[in-house]
Amino acid sequence: MPGKLSHKLTTCKLLIDNEWQEARAQQFTDVTNPSTGEVIAKVPHCQADDVNRAVQAAQQAFPDWSQTPVVDRARVMFKFKSLLESHGEELARTVSREHGKTLAESRASVNRGIEVVEFACGIPSLMTGESIDNLARSVDCETVRHPLGVCAGITPFNFPAMVPLWMYPIAITCGNTFVLKPSEHVPLSSLLVCELLIQAGLPAGVFNLVHGSKGCVDALLTHPLVKAVSFVGSTTVARYIYTTAAAAGKRVQAAGGAKNHLIIMPDANIEQTVEALKASAFGCAGERCMAGSLAVPVGQAAEQLLSKLIDSASNMKVGRTDIDGSPDMGPLITHEHLERVKKLIGQGEQEGAQLALDGRQKRVAEAPHGFFLGPTIFDQAKPGMSIVEEEIFGPVLTVVRVNTLQEAIALGANSQYGNGASIFTESGQAARLFKHSFNAGMIGINIGVPAPLAWFPFTGWNNSFFGDLHIQGKEAILFYTQQKMTMTRWFGAAKAESAPFNDPVWKSRV
Ligand code: NAD
Repeated sequence: MPGKLSHKLTTCKLLIDNEWQEARAQQFTDVTNPSTGEVIAKVPHCQADDVNRAVQAAQQAFPDWSQTPVVDRARVMFKFKSLLESHGEELARTVSREHGKTLAESRASVNRGIEVVEFACGIPSLMTGESIDNLARSVDCETVRHPLGVCAGITPFNFPAMVPLWMYPIAITCGNTFVLKPSEHVPLSSLLVCELLIQAGLPAGVFNLVHGSKGCVDALLTHPLVKAVSFVGSTTVARYIYTTAAAAGKRVQAAGGAKNHLIIMPDANIEQTVEALKASAFGCAGERCMAGSLAVPVGQAAEQLLSKLIDSASNMKVGRTDIDGSPDMGPLITHEHLERVKKLIGQGEQEGAQLALDGRQKRVAEAPHGFFLGPTIFDQAKPGMSIVEEEIFGPVLTVVRVNTLQEAIALGANSQYGNGASIFTESGQAARLFKHSFNAGMIGINIGVPAPLAWFPFTGWNNSFFGDLHIQGKEAILFYTQQKMTMTRWFGAAKAESAPFNDPVWKSRV
């Protein structure tokens, strides 16, 4: 059994040059355990000074690390993967404690993150270039991929370990160095991961950690030594990151928010669809960019589905996730976010939707100060209502009934987002039309959360993504590297090539 990790800090430190350092920041905010509302740590709000120290360390480490043979870089990742596996339980429990996911959800998210490390372990095969001999007479041509330099990652609260893992394993095995700024609501998982990276043998300065919010992010976006920025978070901030970092000359990938539609055809397998919808809408308390938040039953599907779904959702056990137990759903991230979601529920009622299941009265007896909200379902919602158009990011499923698949597809065409969408049907024809026509970048067919595994990119569309090359998969390799093309001609080569092997010309050249 691995020993417990040693990091027991209550005030989060920065990792710079593989050393834990105090922030020079003046401002600190509380990190709370959302199950109980208690403060479990303080996080500094780093400004340009702290960020500059981290970026300088990353810059200094870059020449050596980028020249380290690619197989040796991969070997650090193999070690890191094994450490993540042996410390997976501790990491999952930290995720549950600071974020509020159930332990099962946290374990699954850590495993999804480990898969990205598995992908990154294959970097010697993934980073290869292309070459061809004799593109012109005696002229050979090749491309090779070079790392960029210092890359920055800015991540949201909803997957404290997994979303950062989408980024830095690939960036650093490509030969870059990295500065991570995790969400100020969930910094503790990143502290544990830093220790594992050090234990894995990652040289000083290759991976650095800073904390904070806007001031810290702005310093990263405009730092002249930062070459590329990966962002995951809300659409408003994603757009800001994209425009600000691109204007400062950086490569940017910025994934934003979502409103994912789940279309249910009358021929869908109802039992399985109810389970898939419940998991999609209420899993991780709805705090997932791939959560199904808008159900669109077509024709008779509504009658068959809704009473079963409401019944099943109302039986979900909501409870603490920081202690052993097996709730189906945990709390929301903060008191402020809980109040925002409740406000949106109130707005839905005012706009005329029918509140079929109201989670606002949910109480968890053993945790009266936790940020809990029960599963909530609106029926008879109409396009234009805020609960139809806006991302709520809580356990709220809105139902818009339509008569035809074409109507469901038209509803998606008007969405500002375009992350994911799913159809539930037994009809290949309906599935094919949906797959081809729906206005979203990630499609599920009888799958509630079509979030791609590490080997495929996270292909959000519209306001769910700003940039070109997406996060994860082979696109991530392209994002974290730049190509160099070399053309070669050796004078006299043509003569040597055309000469027979026993020709004196050839012999004189070998
Ligand atoms: P957020 O946008 O509030 O914060 C994300 C990051 O940006 C944090 O690190 C935060 O400190 C920083 N930040 C916040 N405000 C900023 C500002 N004004 N300027 C600069 N930086 C700022 O998002 P969140 O609430 O942490 O996460 C939830 C959001 O993330 C949801 O919208 C969700 O859909 C989205 N998300 C998207 C994906 C995806 O792949 N598309 C995945 C996970 C989460």
